[in-house]
Amino acid sequence: MIEVLDKCIGCSKCVPACPFNAVSMVGKKAVINEACTLCGACVPACPVKAIVITREDPVHRDFSAFKGVWVFAEFEDTGRKGPKKIRKVTLELLSEGRKLADELGVELAAVVLAEKNRNYEKELGAYGADKVYLSENCEFSDYDTDIYSAVIAALVSKYKPEIFLFPATFTGRDLAPRIASLIYAGLTADCTGLSIKNGLLKQSRPAFGGNIMADILSPNSRPQMATVRPNVMKVSPPSDKTARLVKENINIPEGMRRVKVLEKKVAGYESADRIDCADIIVSGGRGMKSREKFNVLEELATLLGGMVGASRAAVDMGFKEKSRQVGQSGTTVSPKLYIACGISGAVQHLVGMKTSDIIIAINKDPNASIFSVAKYGVVADVHEIIGKLIDAVKKAKKIK
Ligand code: FAD
Ligand code: SF4
Ligand code: SF4
Repeated sequence: MIEVLDKCIGCSKCVPACPFNAVSMVGKKAVINEACTLCGACVPACPVKAIVITREDPVHRDFSAFKGVWVFAEFEDTGRKGPKKIRKVTLELLSEGRKLADELGVELAAVVLAEKNRNYEKELGAYGADKVYLSENCEFSDYDTDIYSAVIAALVSKYKPEIFLFPATFTGRDLAPRIASLIYAGLTADCTGLSIKNGLLKQSRPAFGGNIMADILSPNSRPQMATVRPNVMKVSPPSDKTARLVKENINIPEGMRRVKVLEKKVAGYESADRIDCADIIVSGGRGMKSREKFNVLEELATLLGGMVGASRAAVDMGFKEKSRQVGQSGTTVSPKLYIACGISGAVQHLVGMKTSDIIIAINKDPNASIFSVAKYGVVADVHEIIGKLIDAVKKAKKIK
């Protein structure tokens, strides 16, 4: 319930703050009409705290109006002007969201904030979306926390999805908590697994420093919100389906953008420098023993057309730079081929690479956990095997 208290001084600052034109001035008092979605954007605009929203006791709230699974569609931000590509993580979330929606028997929708539509209903429909909620505005060209969170909170208040998934990217990690706090919902960050349990979203993620996997349910808030890291979920093959387009014109109050972007420089965006874009990764761990011995992996990776990755232990020992660390506190990767050399397979490493298509593990300990996710395992001294592998690849490529 929303209420304007008698202490309203009639300053009218709440009128332009409302994205739904739900506030008007009657005499010297603000009046809120039925277009109000309880998004909360007007509350901080009032200088005398005269607008009060009372939320129902979550434990006894009726959630029957909340239906459907939503995915926030994120775009690549290369820092360059012009149309932006939809990020692969969006397609991963749609593919996973499709499974959740099918299990619940509800629709899957993507939420797109863009300058203008570029056939998004076709592209996102191909990866499973039944609907695309699209809001067009030139203000969406540069990501802005205040604008994006207010608009999406308004859409959530209006359409009431039961599940809302965000990528655990810089943008998703900034945006999802802001929306959660605006709509009084919970949020589970950095999930590595999602499923349905008794009609609720089961959100699995590493907890207590990654030593255990925690399963989290949110029975007392809607939507059930989660962020998921890129490369954790698999992208389903595209279909020729087109989603239904629902256009939402939401008014963005003047002055809402508090930050003006003058120039943008996005560092390390080129895919050639990014381990999460590599198709082949040769990764080394503490078992590589020294920086010099670790460097042999570069030769194998170059011969295979791939990149070198590292476990955290290898990074801590200075064998490789932090940007190449694979795992929970590094980058999540999902290449076609992952060769783990002298890596034990701690859970914090496995969560960052276990969705790779083919995993080859080389370890002298036959009980090493890395073998539990490997398709091919070699129990041997890695230093002997790498030399032989390099010779074999050179021979196959007829390199002397
Ligand atoms: P070790 O566990 O020491 O394993 C070395 C392996 O090499 C052993 O299995 C051994 O049998 C093998 N070996 C030794 N010599 C040879 C040889 N000659 N030939 C063949 N095999 C040999 N780790 C990550 O990797 N990424 C992360 O993002 C990450 N995040 C973390 C976050 C938190 C909060 C915490 C608490 C830990 C994190 N860790 C992470 C650390 C993780 O728990 C492990 O300590 C780390 O992955 C171990 O790296 P390793 O496998 O290289 O080393
Ligand atoms: Fe306030 Fe949002 Fe309702 Fe507008 S829609 S009156 S901003 S709570
Ligand atoms: Fe009244 Fe507050 Fe709106 Fe000003 S901002 S008109 S004080 S409710």
